Amino acid sequence: MSEKIEVVVKNCVQNGEGPYFDDTTQSLYYVDLFAGDVHKYNTVTRNHSRQNLDCSVASVIIPRQKGGFLVSQRTDLAILDSWDNGKVTSIAKVEADANMLNDGKVDASGKLWIGSCFCGKDIPDPSKWPKGQGSLYSLEANGSVKKHISNLNISNGMDWTDDNSVMYFIDSIPRQVWAFDFDIKAGNISNQRTVADFSSTEIPDMGFPDGMTIDTEGKLWVACFDAGKVVRLDPETGKVIRTVKFPCEKITSCCFGGKDFTDLYVTSSQFLMTPAQLEKTPLAGSIFKVTGLGVRGRKANIFSG
Ligand code: CA
Repeated sequence: MSEKIEVVVKNCVQNGEGPYFDDTTQSLYYVDLFAGDVHKYNTVTRNHSRQNLDCSVASVIIPRQKGGFLVSQRTDLAILDSWDNGKVTSIAKVEADANMLNDGKVDASGKLWIGSCFCGKDIPDPSKWPKGQGSLYSLEANGSVKKHISNLNISNGMDWTDDNSVMYFIDSIPRQVWAFDFDIKAGNISNQRTVADFSSTEIPDMGFPDGMTIDTEGKLWVACFDAGKVVRLDPETGKVIRTVKFPCEKITSCCFGGKDFTDLYVTSSQFLMTPAQLEKTPLAGSIFKVTGLGVRGRKANIFSG
């Protein structure tokens, strides 16, 4: 089956990230990371709107059971009361001031998992960012935060198998996609192993693994930052089994959406691009939709708090 790629919101963000598809409203939520903005695109009406979260970095927007959204404000997790009133209240300071929260996702028990990294928005060259500043945390419905991993560089995409036995997780700077045994009851991960090493010569031209989602066949869809593509990975073999190319290099994340979760929504970035580069790839910073993939994802979880 051959796929079709279209732009659904053109040039709407500097750093598109954190796509979340809300099936109840058929809306795609996402963030503009270093603008501190959250965006909503209704895929039925095609209405697009944004909110500023009154912060320097916004990395997640996920609906909550109690109404409104769980969001991040650079180092803090916060509640966005409702899309219409825009009121934001911090509920937990999670990270040190020099750092920022990054990709996050809710597991099948309703717990948020969210990682962090050094906040490099003012240091353009990522090779100069201090190493090992990132961690991976979880947040319970009652607001308690637990640290699971330290010494990460850029904590990024994550997702879980349908049976919740495995959690997949990405650290972008060592270019690793890892698997862990996942204990959903205890909320713990263990037995870390490598699924795919993007720095390996066996899988060249992969850029940096960034955001990730899983399909109903248990295959991973990984956004390849600086490589202009999303790849479908078989986690059993670590092999790329499909590649979808995009008309810009900085592809950041993806999630399934649409009525049957058969559309793949993909975010992109203009991070540190020169005017000449932007001229060459003018769709950088757009949101894309891929149809006709012949696979499907599943409904995203909401935060249980
Ligand atoms: Ca990311």
